[in-house]
Amino acid sequence: MNLVPALAVTTQRIALTDPLFISDLHLSEAQPRTLARFEELLAGEACAHAELVILGDLFEYWAGDDAADNDPVAQRVIVALRALRAAGVVLFVMQGNRDLLLGADFAAATGATLLADPTQATIGSETVLLAHGDTYCTRDLAYQRFRAQARDPRFQSAFLTQPVEQRRAFIGQVRARSEAVKRETAADIMDVTPEAVRQALRAAGVRKLIHGHTHHPAAHVFELDGAPAERWVLPDWDLDSEAPRGGYLTCRGAWQLTLW
Ligand code: MN
Repeated sequence: MNLVPALAVTTQRIALTDPLFISDLHLSEAQPRTLARFEELLAGEACAHAELVILGDLFEYWAGDDAADNDPVAQRVIVALRALRAAGVVLFVMQGNRDLLLGADFAAATGATLLADPTQATIGSETVLLAHGDTYCTRDLAYQRFRAQARDPRFQSAFLTQPVEQRRAFIGQVRARSEAVKRETAADIMDVTPEAVRQALRAAGVRKLIHGHTHHPAAHVFELDGAPAERWVLPDWDLDSEAPRGGYLTCRGAWQLTLW
């Protein structure tokens, strides 16, 4: 059975022992150095961890699992992830806003488990909340309307019955429109809303959130109902730009952001 991606994602609680977290690599044919660095990470740093956790936007766009067959970037990523899984590293993948159509076939091809957004993860004695991050950008009303539509199983199922070329053309239009809107939208509107983060932490009963999406890597400490809480933001990757950047988050004893 081929579930639509919105229905394929059910895992909401996981246990981790020694994870490496990444997100927002935005892999595409236009970013060859970024893709090469990803393959390097999988053959290198990630192999030394028990789990690789990808918190969304691994790909710049994803037109559906069946569109990966003739996509050289998707094929390289699948091969690299499968090799990491074969080396014994457990793989978790969350959909981002750009690759929300990652589904059951991608998971099967890579050996990954798809994570719901958000997911609670227990690491040692600590429980943390994992999310892509876009759900907390609640001041961006136009984006939230689009997100609700794009996450609707009926919309996804109708979209995935279109020919791949038609889907790619539609995604191209959405991306162009989104770039134009981003240039006109104030940066704080596209960042997370502090109250939305507080609500999510309260609902989960935890005091630490790990997310990507905003591309502002940092460890924020703030007060939540009288006690400290933390929000760790993963970096985006772009090794092809004039300001090459990227990195990951680990938690061996202490939580640590490694930024390039
Ligand atoms: Mn994103």
